[in-house]
Amino acid sequence: GAIAGASDGAFIRSYYGYENQAGALGSREPIEEQRRRLPAFGHRAQLLYAIETHPVVIVIGEPGSGKSTQLPQYLYEAGWAANGKAIGCTQPRRIAAAMLAQRVSQEMGVEIGTTVGYSVRFSDACSPETTRIKYLTDGTLIRECLADPLLSAYSVVMVDEAQDRTIATDMLLALLKKILCRRKGDLRVVISSASLDAERFKTYFDACYSADGPPGTGSVAILSISGRQFPVDSHYLTKPCENYLVASIEAVMKIHAREPAGDILVFLPGKDDIGQAVAETHEHARRENRLDTLMITSLSAGLSTDEQRRAFDPAPPGQRKVVYSTNVAETSVTIDGVVYVVDCGFVKQRVFDPASGLDHLVTRAISKSSAVQRAGRAGRTQPGKVYRLYTSEAFSSGLFARHDVPEICRLSLAPMAMTLKALGVDNLVRFDYFQSPPPELLSQALEHLASLGALEPQSTALTPGFGLYLAELPLDSMLGACLLNGVAKYKCAREAIAAVAMLAVGGDPFVMPNGQCSEAGADKRDFMVVEGDVLTLVNVLIAYQETPARVRSQWCDLHFLNSRMLDQADRISRQLGGLLAKMGYLRELCLSCGRDFTRLQRCLVSGLFANAARLEADGTSYRLVRGGSVMWVHPSSVLFQATPKPVFVVFVEAMQTTKLYMRSLTAIDPNWLTEAAPHYFSAE
Ligand code: ADP
Repeated sequence: GAIAGASDGAFIRSYYGYENQAGALGSREPIEEQRRRLPAFGHRAQLLYAIETHPVVIVIGEPGSGKSTQLPQYLYEAGWAANGKAIGCTQPRRIAAAMLAQRVSQEMGVEIGTTVGYSVRFSDACSPETTRIKYLTDGTLIRECLADPLLSAYSVVMVDEAQDRTIATDMLLALLKKILCRRKGDLRVVISSASLDAERFKTYFDACYSADGPPGTGSVAILSISGRQFPVDSHYLTKPCENYLVASIEAVMKIHAREPAGDILVFLPGKDDIGQAVAETHEHARRENRLDTLMITSLSAGLSTDEQRRAFDPAPPGQRKVVYSTNVAETSVTIDGVVYVVDCGFVKQRVFDPASGLDHLVTRAISKSSAVQRAGRAGRTQPGKVYRLYTSEAFSSGLFARHDVPEICRLSLAPMAMTLKALGVDNLVRFDYFQSPPPELLSQALEHLASLGALEPQSTALTPGFGLYLAELPLDSMLGACLLNGVAKYKCAREAIAAVAMLAVGGDPFVMPNGQCSEAGADKRDFMVVEGDVLTLVNVLIAYQETPARVRSQWCDLHFLNSRMLDQADRISRQLGGLLAKMGYLRELCLSCGRDFTRLQRCLVSGLFANAARLEADGTSYRLVRGGSVMWVHPSSVLFQATPKPVFVVFVEAMQTTKLYMRSLTAIDPNWLTEAAPHYFSAE
């Protein structure tokens, strides 16, 4: 077909070897055996000694060598949690924190939420009394600092996947450096990573010790866990492919038809791609009458625990497992039995666009170091193969950067600025960062927070009330502002909470079952409103909440709605309600704008004004009001087919694919923009 390179014989081979050691991991052996076989086990005593004698230990080891699952258990077994404190292990990704906690509670034979637990945004499976090994996202641990600035609940904090260099990881490193000096030697920090510049981390923390560290302790130890890696044979396309999704599925079907036993791991950028790939592989396999020989699974945020676990289950005898995964399987989690990797060469990333002042979600080429990590996943238990859906020329060209740019240099810093201020860091320029952010990003963040009303004009301290509350909410600053204004100013707490909760869950609540599309479409139209996506989402959630709990799931089936998603949004809305009540908004919480949607629209403008766009003369494209980028309505929007389109809109998310798209739109009146942020627009 049209897919160059995915046709017969189009892959060319190149070869690179890894250190080859014997010993394969069988996933059906007892858990205790599996634990002992992991490379980390051979370093157990050495690790414990290093942690005993050094406040900071840096651990480097191949993905899958047992850092994330074993180290916290070794520490627990050695008594580091005996004093009633917890061993914390942070992950950049929510899904990884939850999966690791699942796995470790299984290894220890305990119920999740008891000795082993996890805490991520909007989901907490921990008990302060009993949880001793706690997996959390780095962002969640930073939020815990707001209430417990010295992290006194922890005896050890392990910052895992430090090579990802998220803003939260960078911030956490800086905070831990401060805390280490104050806690006089009773806190241990472990920094672990698949690949990182250990010396750089050492230098950063050493500085703290030579200056004013507790006497009598050593400083930073570096340990590496030698993992086993088998050779991985690389195959490239001879011609660039036009559609990585189609090419991935073809590669999977070809491997399945021709290659010996071994599971397949496919890297795709996002969960939309993954959902589509799963459905189409199913269809392919059915057409070829091979459905009973393939176990098709996926791994991405937003899946249920059972769906996630299925990706780790061994395939039944006679079947081959294929796992379609986001970047989470690159280093964060390890799936045993993978022999073939298909790498589409892309990743979904958030990047800050200085012209518009907004973060965009972009699907872009991965870095060379990512490509090497992805390939390495094929060689863990035996020699493997990687099928790269790009040409070797493209790979050696400048298209693939050597390394990823750390987030602190490419994202909006508003959330970081707000949190640091709430933690008492007044001067953000002089803060001891692990890596200093570009000054223009920092000033843009401060300007943005000031325009929301979160900072005092002169001192740039958080404003009492609004700014402080905004920093406390587990939300991005724009949506947080919508929420606080919705409650306090526009008296539509119920709808504002529903909007923010639905947006926090993300994704489309409308399911389009095959064959019933027209009926499902009609149901979708019942909830749809001309004011746009956010109000449509609010309608859906409120209708769900008004349905008696015991019939909600039938109600969802009847209306072609995703009940798991609505259930999650309902839970989040109750959590947000709880937080707002604690802030003293108890009486406001029951206020609703009823059918007076303009109150909700104005509330949305009060947080999202920077994301305002105006319809162009062509009647379909838009232009950002400040900044001037040309933007388009995303096809998933209820306004995509609307004619005429609203003249002014605000959107929640910008997404760059073939065009720059706006997602989650709301129609607005332009007067509300100047009402919400007079300075922001007069600066133009
Ligand atoms: P690292 O942190 O060094 O990348 P991990 O501790 O995450 O390594 O993984 C060690 C081993 O634990 C993996 O090789 C895999 O066998 C097993 N494992 C990890 N997570 C899971 C899971 N959710 N389900 C099943 N096995 C898992």
